[in-house]
Amino acid sequence: MEIIFLGTGTSHGVPSIDCMIEGHARCRKDVCRLSETDSRHRRTRSSIAVVYKGVTVLIDASMDFRSQVLRETIRSIDAALITHAHADHIGGIPDLRSYDRSRGTPLPLYGSPESIGAIRSTYSYIFDPATFIGGGIPSVDAIPVTGPFALWGETITPIPVAHGALAGCLGYRIGPLVYIPDMKAIDAAAIDRCCGADTLILNCLREGPEHVSHLTLAESMDLARKISPRQCFFTHLSHDIHYELDRTKLDPWMHFAYDGLRIAIIS
Ligand SMILES: [Zn+2]
Ligand SMILES: [Zn+2]
Ligand SMILES: [Zn+2]
Repeated sequence: MEIIFLGTGTSHGVPSIDCMIEGHARCRKDVCRLSETDSRHRRTRSSIAVVYKGVTVLIDASMDFRSQVLRETIRSIDAALITHAHADHIGGIPDLRSYDRSRGTPLPLYGSPESIGAIRSTYSYIFDPATFIGGGIPSVDAIPVTGPFALWGETITPIPVAHGALAGCLGYRIGPLVYIPDMKAIDAAAIDRCCGADTLILNCLREGPEHVSHLTLAESMDLARKISPRQCFFTHLSHDIHYELDRTKLDPWMHFAYDGLRIAIIS
C-alpha cells in the first residue's frame, strides 16, 4: 500500500492569505515566508491518495485537488472517502469529473450520512436529474456509511470523531492505515478501532494555544502514544508548525508530513 500526501495544510493553507496581507507580523515562526524557498512548508489543503491492489482511493477532495493531482500525476481515482463536509475537504468534488471517462462507472463516494447530506445540498446540480448533461457534471454515487464495509479486499472502518460543532465527522481505517485529518476529541471505542494499525496519520494544527476543534501538538502526541502505531505522520498543519524546529519535539517514530511525501506500508 502506498500513501501519497496530496495536501498537508489546515483550512487556510500555508502560506496564508492573512499573513500576506498583514506583512507576516502574525506568523510567529516565519513559516509562510519560509514556504517561498522550502517546499516542505508549502501546504495545500489536506488530502491523501491510497494506492493498493491497483486501485486509487482518494480521502477528501480538497479545494486544491486540481493542482495536487496535476503535481502528483494521479491518473485514476476508483473511490473517494470523505471525512466531513467542511469546504477544505469537499471543495474539489466538481473536478472529479475528469476521472469519469477512464473509469466508465460512477465514482463511489462514501461519507457519514451527515456529510453525504451536506454534499448533496452544496453540489445539488450534481444530483439533480434536471441538470443539463454534458455540462461537466461528475458522475458520483454518494453512499452514506455507518459501519465497516469492504473495498477491493480491504476493510474500510469509519472512525467517529468530534470536530467542533460539526456532526458526522469521521476518520478512516484502511487495513494497516488510520487517517484522521480533522478532530478535537475521540472516545475509547473509536480509539479501539485505531489500535494495531501500522501507520497513523493524525491532525496537528499548531503548537498552541488550545483550539476548539483541532488538536495541538501536545494533544496530537498524547493521542498518538495512546494508539501506539509503528509510525505516525502529523498533517492538517498550520503556519505554526516549523518542519525543522518542531520535529525535535517529536518521539522518534513521529514525523511531520509534507505535500508530495510518499510512504509505502505493509498490509
Ligand atoms: Zn480541515
Ligand atoms: Zn503565516
Ligand atoms: Zn474541518
